[in-house]
Amino acid sequence: MSETIPNVLMIYTGGTIGMINDPLTGVLKAFDFNHLSNQIPELNRLNVNLSAISFEKPVDSSEMNPEYWTQIANIVFENYESHDGFVVLHGSDTMAFTASALSFMLQGLKKPVILTGSQLPIGTIRTDGKENLITSIEIAAAKDAAGNAKIQEVAIYFEYSLYRGNRTSKISATEFEAFSSPNFPELAIAGISIRYQQVSKLEEKDLQLFTGFDNRVALLKIFPGFNAKVYESIFDFNLVKGIIIETFGSGNAPSIPHFTKLILDYIAQGGIVLNITQCSTGSVVQGKYETSSIFQQAGVIGGFDITTEAAVAKMMYALGKEKDFQKIVEILTHDLNGEMTVPSDQEA
Ligand code: ASP
Repeated sequence: MSETIPNVLMIYTGGTIGMINDPLTGVLKAFDFNHLSNQIPELNRLNVNLSAISFEKPVDSSEMNPEYWTQIANIVFENYESHDGFVVLHGSDTMAFTASALSFMLQGLKKPVILTGSQLPIGTIRTDGKENLITSIEIAAAKDAAGNAKIQEVAIYFEYSLYRGNRTSKISATEFEAFSSPNFPELAIAGISIRYQQVSKLEEKDLQLFTGFDNRVALLKIFPGFNAKVYESIFDFNLVKGIIIETFGSGNAPSIPHFTKLILDYIAQGGIVLNITQCSTGSVVQGKYETSSIFQQAGVIGGFDITTEAAVAKMMYALGKEKDFQKIVEILTHDLNGEMTVPSDQEA
């Protein structure tokens, strides 16, 4: 039986993984992805047809924004039919934001879009980049017995774990184990073989590309002693269309009358407020404590267990996709693409 060799497209956006030490100066510089197999000869032994597209000017992931996310999503969409899977090489710092954004820009994927990167440049001896890249390519090419892709969503592969992209956060600036997915299990674990886990699949939909994100979004992390006056300007509906508030525990905030009034007035003008928790595990339950019941009464939306990264991306998506207040609320209160656990899915 003839076996078709999978086509995997690598999209190089920048970040540490694509750096090598210039042998003469020792300075880190981006390497030429067209000569990738010179750097990693192991790639020639994978049973995969590899091709690569690089950002014209690779960027540190701190520079990422909706325009770059759109570029990545467009590359995947335009090459979707001709490739079996995609590997996005990306700086680790904002990889969880990009993975979240791509999960909303590219809904209904039947093929894997695997983001990976590294803590050490690929040209250094102890690099984690080689393993991350090689395994990501294997995952991007992996099919089941029926010929369907084993992973059919946006995911992050880092240090032997594959995570649902919009469930991840970067948790370490120094360890190789730089990511975690505190509220959702790994999609796969790479040991001597890659073990794909039984996790709830995403809802089946036709592939749709939507890149019209609206970044008029504010993120407010509250803290004890928080002075609402300092933040007055973000409650300006002409400037900011959606505010994400990172609250304590299960969605609680100090009972400051001025803060409450800012929220009430903002929502009355048509502003959207999403309440997410500062805790890395667990969920927002508005109204559980008196300190969060005002949110419920004011029409603040509870974000359940969504990460900050996914909340930012989802808010930009919702504001760009819909103009009607109720429709935006509808998007934010529902699990769109695996990003949050709604109460009916949770144990009581
Ligand atoms: N600053 C780099 C970036 O995120 C770090 C990395 O690549 O991991 O682009």
